[in-house]
Amino acid sequence: MQCLECKQEVPYIDNEHLAQCCGLTLQEYALRHKLPLDILVPPSQLNRQDNPAEYSLRQGRVSDDAKLTLSALDACGAVTSDEDFYIVSGEVRRLDLLFWLQQTLADYGFEFRQEYIYNDETHRVVAINRLKTPKHSLDKYRIDELEQCENDDFLRFVAIAIALKAELYGGYLFLRYRDTQCADWLCDRLKTSLKIELIKLDTVGNEEILLRSKTLADSRTLLHLVEGILNEMPCTSERFYATMPEASLTKELVFDAAHFITDHPGSCANLHGGRYKLHVTISDAIDPYSGFVMDYGYLKKVIAKRVIKKLDHKSLNFSDASLSWRSSTELLSAFIWQQLIDYLPNLSELLIYETDSSYCRFRGPSLETLQSGVEYMPSAFKQKQLGHSPLRRRVLKASHPVHLDLVINENKE
Ligand SMILES: [Zn+2]
Repeated sequence: MQCLECKQEVPYIDNEHLAQCCGLTLQEYALRHKLPLDILVPPSQLNRQDNPAEYSLRQGRVSDDAKLTLSALDACGAVTSDEDFYIVSGEVRRLDLLFWLQQTLADYGFEFRQEYIYNDETHRVVAINRLKTPKHSLDKYRIDELEQCENDDFLRFVAIAIALKAELYGGYLFLRYRDTQCADWLCDRLKTSLKIELIKLDTVGNEEILLRSKTLADSRTLLHLVEGILNEMPCTSERFYATMPEASLTKELVFDAAHFITDHPGSCANLHGGRYKLHVTISDAIDPYSGFVMDYGYLKKVIAKRVIKKLDHKSLNFSDASLSWRSSTELLSAFIWQQLIDYLPNLSELLIYETDSSYCRFRGPSLETLQSGVEYMPSAFKQKQLGHSPLRRRVLKASHPVHLDLVINENKE
């Protein structure tokens, strides 16, 4: 077999040869030369049981840097385990970040493994890239120990979670944490010592805590503070600081609902039902390390949780005060926009089909505009001044003199 990198004839191409010849892993070699892993990985390497005894167990003091890094990874859910190992998973596009973590976590004995899996579900050889260390007691910081740490260490703790688990949508930073105590501490400390606010959003389909920078300014300030740290970490800073090409994604979901249009001269005044088709479009930069603007799965979960769950098999007019009078596609769009914008600050357009031939295209205000306090499509029937005009008091008093006299007398007593 000829190695396509060094052109030498070798019995087979493996990671040992590639490490000497070009520095690629086998999966990267396969991707560069558009070869299926199935023809490169020898059967003996498939579904191998990893043996903890093959790891060189480190003993001795763990450096503060390693301890802080591991604690940060653990807090954002990046450390998992199986029967024998603690595991930090990576992706082939960001292997250098995994190697950087391996170096930082060396005191714990983490070693890199590219493992090759074939099973009845995939029907192809799939590689997974992980740092692993045999299970032993991992010396980590508790949150109450971290409370005393200096701002530099605190920012490092935050930066590691940003590198591993954050997304930037429409300029707003989204962060995920594993436990509430840690998320609360983080929000509190960012606010008190750095004047940066994160807000907690409802989780979207998983158990992690979802945090978002409250404003664009909060996002910019935090990213500015951690820029130096993120620049040290390979395969990271481009996600937050580089200008990347943009793309728009659309997800279509449907829901069935009943509605009526108050005071409509035609049959739309009657309660009737139909199937609504909703197209949600977001526009944003393409993340160079995921190849996505946003995972369609996440987009679907947000729409399902924030919109479909609230409207499907419901009467739209009784779902929200803004729809009680007329649940037109126009007002429905405005309502849906408001449900989504906190989770999708990169929302760019909604399209709602009431029938195949009738649809509404809607572009609402940005999250930043909404946060500035503009009144957005206020429900006429929720306005406080409704019912308090002198005209109405005069007219209604004339129509119901007895009742109003009673009220006035009661007030006097
Ligand atoms: Zn070679």
